[in-house]
Amino acid sequence: MEPQRNAKRLLRLMLAPLIALALALTGATPAVAYEQREAIVSSGHGWSQPGYLVVHETANPGASAANHVTYWRNNQPNVTMAHYVMELDGSVVYHTQRDDTIAWHVGNGNYATVGIELAHATNSADAARQFDEAAQWCADYLSVRGWGIDRLLSHSECRWIWGGTDHTDPDGYFAKYGRSWAQFEGLVSSKMGGGIGGQTGGSGTGSMSGTSNGAPTANTTTVDVHYALHVRGGGWWPEVENYGEGEQGYAGAPFTRHDMLIAWADRGTLRYRVHTLEDGWLDWVQAASYTDSVNGMAGIWGHTIDGVQMYYVTPEGEEYSQVYYRSQTVDREGYLESVCDDGTTYGGDDYAGIYGEPLDRLQMAISDGDVF
Ligand SMILES: [Zn+2]
Repeated sequence: MEPQRNAKRLLRLMLAPLIALALALTGATPAVAYEQREAIVSSGHGWSQPGYLVVHETANPGASAANHVTYWRNNQPNVTMAHYVMELDGSVVYHTQRDDTIAWHVGNGNYATVGIELAHATNSADAARQFDEAAQWCADYLSVRGWGIDRLLSHSECRWIWGGTDHTDPDGYFAKYGRSWAQFEGLVSSKMGGGIGGQTGGSGTGSMSGTSNGAPTANTTTVDVHYALHVRGGGWWPEVENYGEGEQGYAGAPFTRHDMLIAWADRGTLRYRVHTLEDGWLDWVQAASYTDSVNGMAGIWGHTIDGVQMYYVTPEGEEYSQVYYRSQTVDREGYLESVCDDGTTYGGDDYAGIYGEPLDRLQMAISDGDVF
């Protein structure tokens, strides 16, 4: 089956750029009121391929964005700074560092993110205008990159995604003027056309329709399954039950590397194991415990998962079911083909993933047919 499998993967590879382009073209037309100026003051700390936009506030009340540009320039190269900084009244955004270079702004998530600092306004008129302009800028930025609202993060959210930082901005700054991060996200979303979250360049829009592994199709799950991925060097993402649309419908997150997988079924036995860049295939596990990193989850802390394999054993007397699962990688658009158990039943792929490409999202279901 190998040649066939490679051919299918090649097809996906060729389609991915077209899908990305289509998404870029459907992005909202930027409605610019703010002015963006090039003011590159830093070459950063190495190259990156960011997948998220992070919003900060400077925690420096009354200091202008222009002041920050000067300060950052004068304190190179070891200064904490972001790629962009917006003026107190939202009128100007300075672009201070290339987007594909690493800035020191969110701790362990630096490699995965682009940041914008909002200068800390000291009057409500400036704060109100800046709030609106910042939302517009974020909407424009996400649209141009073909990213959905799920790629927008606050610095505060980065604490539990990647760790290495204890900042909670811009929540407190927004609260000071009676606003919240949730309101900001809502405003950005509405400026992008109000689309639902998750419609991004990498959240499954590239999946091939139809059933590639020859399994019967199905729309129902027979046993509920629960699973979560742990961010390498960070924390656990929330558990997912079965699968769905949007960011609640899969484990993991775009452009994120993971080191641990935990999974369990409400009935029957779910066996699972992971393949890592560093170690190859690790041992099978068939238990789930957040406090047992040997037998209660699959993976090795700090090692990057690039493959997952699973097998479901139906309890006596119940309808025969199998586990169907599929994944995405940080390197390409869309889900790879779905996999049924370890591939032995229908001769399809025998694991989810591609060796050498960090697995960023996983979906799974226990069913009597392929749900994907
Ligand atoms: Zn911050």
